[in-house]
Amino acid sequence: MMEKVARYEAHRLGLLRYYTGKPCIRGHICERITSTYACLKCHKIWQRRRRVIEGSSVRKYYRTYYAKNAPAKRTYHREWNRKNPHVSRARNRRLYLKNKKAKS
Ligand SMILES: [Zn+2]
Repeated sequence: MMEKVARYEAHRLGLLRYYTGKPCIRGHICERITSTYACLKCHKIWQRRRRVIEGSSVRKYYRTYYAKNAPAKRTYHREWNRKNPHVSRARNRRLYLKNKKAKS
């Protein structure tokens, strides 16, 4: 059994990790990282996912994501703007005038 240390106490003592005995949001009961509050198991999951993304490079990932989703997104927004002309036009006009006034 690990010794329970509150996060602020760990921070005060300069410890890199702490343990509260409470489960994280995903239900892991393990040590946590002092700087980020992350539990070690969640951190590992995140790191693995990150490695998968970065293995193919993040930019490449988002470029393909954009290429795949841009047409659908464009169609969706065009459709939304067509359905809500009063909202988008009036709001944009209002914001434009407000910002213009604020600048000068
Ligand atoms: Zn966790």
